[in-house]
Amino acid sequence: MRVLITGAAGFLGSHLTDRMLAEGHAVIGIDNFATGAAENLAHLAHEPRFEFREWDICVPMNAGTKNGFDPGTIDYVFNMASPASPPEYLRLAIETLEVGSTGTRNALDVAERYSAGFLHASTSECYGDPLEHPQREEYWGHVNPIGPRSVYDESKRFSEALVMAYHRSRGVNTHLARIFNTYGPRLHPSDGRVISNFLMQALRGDPLTIYGDGSQTRSFCYVDDLIDGLVRLAHSGEHLPVNIGNPGEFTILECAQAVLEVTGSKSALKFEPLPVDDPTRRCPDITKARTLLGWEPRIPLEEGLARSLDYFKSKLEAAA
Ligand code: UDP
Repeated sequence: MRVLITGAAGFLGSHLTDRMLAEGHAVIGIDNFATGAAENLAHLAHEPRFEFREWDICVPMNAGTKNGFDPGTIDYVFNMASPASPPEYLRLAIETLEVGSTGTRNALDVAERYSAGFLHASTSECYGDPLEHPQREEYWGHVNPIGPRSVYDESKRFSEALVMAYHRSRGVNTHLARIFNTYGPRLHPSDGRVISNFLMQALRGDPLTIYGDGSQTRSFCYVDDLIDGLVRLAHSGEHLPVNIGNPGEFTILECAQAVLEVTGSKSALKFEPLPVDDPTRRCPDITKARTLLGWEPRIPLEEGLARSLDYFKSKLEAAA
């Protein structure tokens, strides 16, 4: 296959690129570096099956535009482009809304033009601050449409509506992955997410910043497991959303403890205000992924943190 990956320089996009290349496919990666990093793809500089184009998917991908870019014949589109960490999507508020609307539409148009399959990276944020627990795909969510997080939540929800419309009205072979919190190497060390913050703070010996009282929960999936789930979904016949995440649920305090154990750090805990609309609980029901895709995560939190350690240590050394 020849595969187009938007957001290829991002955390998930770059791992997906590696996986597609490992499977023998050719990959064309695009990214505008809004939050992605060229170094995530640096190891592919001499890979003949990988092409990269710096491009903002909010600009239509056809040869007719100024300095036009058309990816050419492709078999599959993975739409991974979007700011994804809360501090980054708050900083890039309008851009986040734009990429989840115009950007997704442009990516869908390419898939339609080349009769390619399409997988969209959606999110557990579609469930907002959920009133049902754990979250099943049938749950419509509890989202504040005008709060600070709405730029991300509503852009992803609108993308889901667009993807379903292209499937129903235009027959595009689409897939929707609702991705829960994911971590691993290449998670940007300063993008403000909990695992990257805690690992960097622990390695520096700085206090771990707990927002609120740390009783809120998240379910953390190691990146290799996540990518495996995405690839299985891409090959499936399922067009409705599928949760891809690890159902192991941890409070943020438990997560801090796990980071302290894995790093051997003696860092203290420092309590800071809880961000507005920070979801109280988050845990996927993955019955659908288990049944339809034969998928479930294999790597528990402690092991995934240990596997991530070398990357974050190298970031710390690079910053020194
Ligand atoms: N969080 C925290 N300390 C940090 C960063 C995040 O306590 O340094 C909390 C945050 O308030 C949230 C959870 O950890 O409850 C996960 O935050 P993250 O930004 O990683 O992702 P989210 O699931 O909120 O999109």
